[in-house]
Parts: sequence; structure tokens; C-alpha cells
Amino acid sequence: MTLGCRKLLLPLLAPGWTGRALRLRTPGAVPSRACNISACSYKLRNVELHPLWKGPLDIPGGSRQSPINIRVRDSVFHPNLAPISTQYDPNTCIHIWNNGYSFLVEYDDCTDKSVVSGGPLENPYRLKQFHFHWGANNDWGSEHTVDSKVFPAELHLVHWNCSKYQTFEEAVMEENGLAVIGIFLKLGRHNQKLQKLVDILPSVRYKDSLTEFNYFDPSCLLPTCSDYWTYSGSLTTPPLTESVTWIMMKRPIEVDHSQLAVFRSLLYTAVGEEEKNMVDNFRPLQPLMNRTVHSSFKPALKMSEFKKADVQAG
Ligand SMILES: [Zn+2]
Repeated sequence: MTLGCRKLLLPLLAPGWTGRALRLRTPGAVPSRACNISACSYKLRNVELHPLWKGPLDIPGGSRQSPINIRVRDSVFHPNLAPISTQYDPNTCIHIWNNGYSFLVEYDDCTDKSVVSGGPLENPYRLKQFHFHWGANNDWGSEHTVDSKVFPAELHLVHWNCSKYQTFEEAVMEENGLAVIGIFLKLGRHNQKLQKLVDILPSVRYKDSLTEFNYFDPSCLLPTCSDYWTYSGSLTTPPLTESVTWIMMKRPIEVDHSQLAVFRSLLYTAVGEEEKNMVDNFRPLQPLMNRTVHSSFKPALKMSEFKKADVQAG
């Protein structure tokens, strides 16, 4: 890896990221989840816990912020949305590190060896890194929700538009700069494909720890169903720039409790600091505003509607 490449491995999610002179204020929290005890209490947890969300955080005039609640009935089927295509070279996997907010598996993005294309994307986007968001328990943790359903975790595969921009850092700040594939994790069976990653996590327990991690093709973490929703949004961490084409896979993948427990054993804190477990590292929901969520699939009719349609047809 050349020095030039190394420079591209700057943290996307690092706390204290200043980027360009964006004035940031806390966006209005949107009460779009049902108000039960967990939904109300979780919202303030990450704000209280993590310095990333202390101080002013907002994009003045921001109208395309993420994450959002995906309302299935309001999403619009787009017949031209083909399945996305990932071509990842596991040799481009470099290392894993704890940036104090999540753990990132980073890829050498100096070439087009690992890219996503198709779907809503006009050209290939290079894989930069992937990371997760998760909760303190299994009742919450995902950033996006589907009809207000919250999942215990969410995986983000972050790519940048190498046709339009020279570097990842440039793409972060610009229109159509990034494409993020989001995948929900639900509690279920042990996920063997995730286990190589889970096994390495104790070595990056502390903030700023980094360890070599090679030969991992994250396409093994994609659900088998290719259906997805897509919308225009933002990064969910500072600089919160509205440069992201989100591709949210409809079907979750499964993970078991013990694997999520290892996620939760990571720390926000560095060696020598008072230990704080890395949990609830997600941003609250943001308003949809004047946006449409498109789907690559036709929404299934509910049984009651099916019967009505059947009667009318008969
Ligand atoms: Zn993320």
C-alpha cells in the first residue's frame, strides 16, 4: 500500500471530524417511532454517551438527512431499478480498527478491484469501508427503520464515486459522491459468515486500536434476496453531508445473541480511560421531507387487499 493510498484511509466516522466549515447543529429529533419506553429512552442514550453528538450538530437547510423510517406503503416501485451488483476482491481488505464510534473494516480503494454497480448507480462506486451500528440490547440499534420496526443492528457498506471524484474525501462532500448499502441484522441463527469478523473484534476493543484483517469479501453478508429501497440522503455521522445514495436491502440477515454481545464488548474509550461500552452508536431518525423512497420490487398485497381485488375481478 502506498502512502497515497494510506491517506485515503481517514476515518469517515471519527468523532471530532471537522471537515470543511460546515456549521453543525442538532437536528430536530423526529418522533416517528412509536412512543414506548424503549423508543423514548434510546434516543437520548447515544447523545448522552458519546462526544460525537455533543455540541452543535445540524446542517442548516438540510433537507435530505439520514437515517429515515421507510414507510413501505409510501415507497414507489421503480421498474428500471435493476439488482445491484457487487464485485469485491477480498485481497483489497486491509485492516480493522476501532475509531471510537464503531469498528471499520477498510479496503484499498486505489483501484477498481472492489466496486458496486447497477441499481440506481450510473457508474461503479469503489468500496471504502464497512461498519455497523447496534444497540445496548436487542430492542433497538439500527439507524433506519421499516414501518417503524427497529432492528438490533445495521451494516453499512460505504462506496465512493470514482468516476466523478478523485478521492473518497472529495466524494464525501459532493453530489452523488457516495453509495451506501444498508443491511438490517435481526436476531436469529448464528451467522457463520460473520464469525471471522466477530473473532477479530477483541483485538480492537479499545478506541484507536487497529489490526491487520485480510481476505474478507463482504458480499457474503448480503441477503440472498436482491430487493431493496433507495433514496437520497446523508451520512449519519459528521460531516452529515447529503452526498449519499442509500440502498437499503429489504431482507435482514441473521445474527445470534452471542455475536452481538461481542459487538457490545467493544469500547468507545481508549486504553487508560474509564471504560464505556460501545453501544447505541446510531443517529436518531430524520424527517423524510420532500423525498420519495423507491423500491426495486412491487410491494406485496396484504391478504385483505388480495381478497378485495379477487372479489372485484370476479
Ligand atoms: Zn453507518
